[in-house]
Amino acid sequence: MIQTLQQVSTIAEMRAIVAEAKRQGKKVGIVPTMGYLHQGHLSLVAEAKKTCDLVVMSIFVNPLQFGPNEDFERYPRDLERDRQLAQEGGVDVLFTPSVSEMYPQPIMTTVSVANVSAPLCGKSRPGHFDGVSTVVMKLLQIVQPDFAYFGQKDAQQVAVVTQMVQDLSVPVEIIPCPIVREADGLAMSSRNVYLSAEEREQALVLSRSLQQAQTWIREKALPARIRDGVIAMISEMPLASIDYVEILHYPQLTPVDELESGQTVIVALAVRFGHTRLIDNVIVTV
Ligand code: AMP
Repeated sequence: MIQTLQQVSTIAEMRAIVAEAKRQGKKVGIVPTMGYLHQGHLSLVAEAKKTCDLVVMSIFVNPLQFGPNEDFERYPRDLERDRQLAQEGGVDVLFTPSVSEMYPQPIMTTVSVANVSAPLCGKSRPGHFDGVSTVVMKLLQIVQPDFAYFGQKDAQQVAVVTQMVQDLSVPVEIIPCPIVREADGLAMSSRNVYLSAEEREQALVLSRSLQQAQTWIREKALPARIRDGVIAMISEMPLASIDYVEILHYPQLTPVDELESGQTVIVALAVRFGHTRLIDNVIVTV
């Protein structure tokens, strides 16, 4: 039997549903998204359904986390399609607030997580993680979930949000979930629809180079060499323009000089193909 999906757009309705669920002793989980759903998002829902009795998915393209020259306006949106996929995926409540519902007045209070927000996407997208941590904090305050599910596709986001809930004693457990890829290795992303056929073909170098990096890590190659190797592979693609390739400790996101057994490191990259900026990563315990 397919259960019906409830959609609410106000904070008051959202709170009322959760309050009732908690009265009934239900465990509540949230899957925060920006919509234009794919199997990556739905894998988070599947994970949430294992533990939670009420699975809330938020769809909110958060203006706070986009820079002035970024793709907020043209970020892909298709609520009708999302509703269908969310229902099929087993979401119980779809929370779709408007920008004015979330930010009825200019926001004066923001959450800023030091250090882990600084490198990688924090460096190339100034202010991005303040926008992320602030909206995630708001969503956690609105839904007050027991569990919140995030994809390792955005590994820095996982690190930032985990640090935030620890620092601010937010009573939620952050559950990181593995990256879901297309059959040919491309990490699923709402932004993949922007890619031309040629760009999409060349973008396969990202997962390929990360696989190669994984092999080099197992061989304990020098991090600087691994980075150079990944950069060289990506640079062979004429349509690729590298934003960053970094090897850092995970989840601390501090520099790695040499690989030592037992360390967990991330190889993270951001690469532009035309106007589309793609990110991908691999996390390895040496
Ligand atoms: P987004 O809608 O892009 O903000 O993503 C919402 C959530 O889905 C975030 O926690 C992402 O990390 C996660 N996500 C996006 N793409 C993937 C993927 N390919 N595999 C796993 N999780 C993903």
